[in-house]
This record gives sequence, structure tokens and C-alpha cells, in this order.
Amino acid sequence: MSSEFDPRRLNVQAFAQAGATLSAVDLLSKYERLLSETGAPGADREVRWAARGEQQTDASGHARVWLHLTAGVSLPLTCQRCLGPADIDVEVTRDFRFVATEAQAEAEDEEAEEDVLVLSHDFDLRALVEDELLMALPLVPRHEACPTEVKLVVQDADFEAAQEAKPKPFAALAGLKTGQKS
Ligand SMILES: [Zn+2]
Repeated sequence: MSSEFDPRRLNVQAFAQAGATLSAVDLLSKYERLLSETGAPGADREVRWAARGEQQTDASGHARVWLHLTAGVSLPLTCQRCLGPADIDVEVTRDFRFVATEAQAEAEDEEAEEDVLVLSHDFDLRALVEDELLMALPLVPRHEACPTEVKLVVQDADFEAAQEAKPKPFAALAGLKTGQKS
């Protein structure tokens, strides 16, 4: 059923009309913009996503075209508190409604809760998955709980001096957040 739909060139309206679903587990290496966030490692990580089309009829009898998307990836990033490697899980769930024209999309996107996009016969679903995951990335990636006691590592004077000579903006930020002095 779903095999007739190609995620790289998706006929959104037909997908919604059919109430079809598509899902995949792709290698991160297929998502260049997302991969560039890791600074190289992680090409073999998995990007999982699933999409479902839905067509509704509104009160005035017009068809409303929906696409429901979930996506997730675990990215190997650098924790900005302890500067160690951190796997950051990014998950998104989004609803998109598709309309006929760019002008309509712009006008309706302002007030709608859902994202409003323009209908296309060759919509790039993977690009949408990548856009959404990129937007969901944390600005400052951090462990929920760092594996090492960061603040207690600073013990000898030379190291401390070196730290002061090279201020780390993210470490300073982390300090501010927790109210601790670095
Ligand atoms: Zn950490």
C-alpha cells in the first residue's frame, strides 16, 4: 500500500487521500545538514521517522490535507558543561496542513496551531524530517547528569590558571544556569 509513495517525491494530496503511511530507518549519513552538527562522527546512527497522511472535510465541504510526522535520532554531540561526548536524543511530533498556494500558507500559518505548508506533487519528506530535527536540537547540548564531577576536577593551580586564560563561553553559561561560580 505504502510502496507506491516515494518519500523523496511525495504526492502529498494523494498520500492524504489514501490515508497512507510511510516510515523508514535511514542512516544519518543521508542527512548531511544534520550530520554536520556532530562535526563528523555518527554517520552510522539511525534516523527513524514515520508519516501518516489524512484527508478531512471541513464545515464548508473543502478537503483539508494533513500530514502527521514523528521523527527521532540520537546524535553524538559534545556536552557543553563537562565537554565530554554526549548522546543527545532528539524527538519530534508535528502536524502539518497543506494548502494550495504560498500566500494562503503564509496567511494561515500565522494563526494556525499546526504548521501550514504548500501542496506539492514531489514533496521531499526527508528534507522535512531533517528540518524538524534540526529545529529541535538543543542550543546548548548537555548531559542530563554529567558522568564526572566537573567542578571538582579543577585542583591544581596551573590548570586553574589555564582555565582562566581561556574562558569557555559555554562553561560560563552552564555556571550561570546553576548559579555556581566557575
Ligand atoms: Zn556533561
